[in-house]
Amino acid sequence: MNKQLTNDQLTQWDHDHFFHPSTHLGQFARREMSNRIITGANGVYITDREGRSSLDAFAGLYCVNVGYGRTEIADAIAEQAHELAYYHSYVGHGTEASITLSKMIAERAPDGMNHVYYGLGGSDANETNIKLVWYYNNVLGRPEKKKIISRWRGYHGSGLVTGSLTGLELFHKKFDLPLSQILHTEAPYYYRRNDLSMSEKQFSAHCAAELEAMIEREGADTIAAFIGEPVLGTGGIVPPPQGYWDAIQKVLNKHDILLIADEVVTGFGRLGTMMGSDHYGMKPDIITIAKGLTSAYAPLSGSIISDKMWAVLERGTDENGAIGHGWTYSAHPIGAAAGVANLKLLDKLDLVSNARNIGQYLNQAMAEALGEHAHVGEIRGEGMLCAVELVKNRDDRTFFDASEKLAPRIVGKMLERGVIARAMPQGDIIGFAPPFSLSREEADKIVEATKASIIEILG
Ligand code: PMP
Repeated sequence: MNKQLTNDQLTQWDHDHFFHPSTHLGQFARREMSNRIITGANGVYITDREGRSSLDAFAGLYCVNVGYGRTEIADAIAEQAHELAYYHSYVGHGTEASITLSKMIAERAPDGMNHVYYGLGGSDANETNIKLVWYYNNVLGRPEKKKIISRWRGYHGSGLVTGSLTGLELFHKKFDLPLSQILHTEAPYYYRRNDLSMSEKQFSAHCAAELEAMIEREGADTIAAFIGEPVLGTGGIVPPPQGYWDAIQKVLNKHDILLIADEVVTGFGRLGTMMGSDHYGMKPDIITIAKGLTSAYAPLSGSIISDKMWAVLERGTDENGAIGHGWTYSAHPIGAAAGVANLKLLDKLDLVSNARNIGQYLNQAMAEALGEHAHVGEIRGEGMLCAVELVKNRDDRTFFDASEKLAPRIVGKMLERGVIARAMPQGDIIGFAPPFSLSREEADKIVEATKASIIEILG
């Protein structure tokens, strides 16, 4: 921390010059909302420049999975920076860290997925994925098979293609998105879409039928891939209804459509299993990884490619020359060193088991504390993910008007109680995705702050 700079000075520069992502620009510039300058963190706590400490129950943006302040990862990064801060990975170049990490990822990926392409964040990894899917179909002589089907409420990034894949209105409005080759189908959101007569399995069959109807309407020979998060994340933290992925996968196989599992949130343990695809028996052709790959100690993402796709890509380069896709920072050595140290730590401390066990404890404690509240519609989760969805009326599932900004107000009250949760962007949903190192006492603290804040606002 630079003690020469005053808080007032930094705050002035912040409001005047820092273009913050996902922020209301006018309100921030006019100082109608305050800034927060984070200075340090340890375990599950972050501290700011005013000396306030908060339990980070969202692990940054569900990414600091091993918790803050891990010296093993910091040391690995420093060592790598001293030895070799950068070299590119074009035309067969690599580093010990990037090669070792590739092997470690392949060992943790589902069977038959053995090749990793690296990027920096989830968005660029998904951009890579769509390009590779298009390349694949061109090599196979199917130039028309290019459209991608995503889901409403899916989140896949903020780029041109990935912002299009994202099925949230805020990410399209005024950006001329989605692009025309991207389609959206029904979200597997049983609580909101169930007409109260369908079972979960029936709702899954309905989602699969909607997907198939879209494929038939468009023509299967125009659809290249389907992309989905094993558990909807930013769209509301929604685990799929029973039988969903089986039903979807059957439709995709029937029409020869690739499956991209976006595991930016679920990859490397968040569901209590190493990969979300294994958790739900999915058989993807590509898996997107980011956040938990390095626990955000350095920016790094990846696309894990199946052997089936790899064979076609390889053929493509035999016919056309080197693959025309590369980032300067693909497999950046510092990111790769962080990734190796992070995955080792995950194993050494058995943090995936902790995510499963403490995650279950958190979800149960939340249900016990708030399950009967008149305005709590659903408490749901999987592994170290949990969401509390608020409703105006539990019986007919009517929702509060968005203008009431209920979830942001409750999350604001939680912050006053020293706990950071996230008001998910669409609907009154309070989201939790703590670091896997969370203890029972810390889980209790999250539940207490949630309950007290909901009662303070809603009675
Ligand atoms: N996919 C998923 C499932 C995500 O949750 C996110 C980020 N929250 C992304 C992709 C995009 O990642 P990034 O913000 O690193 O570009």
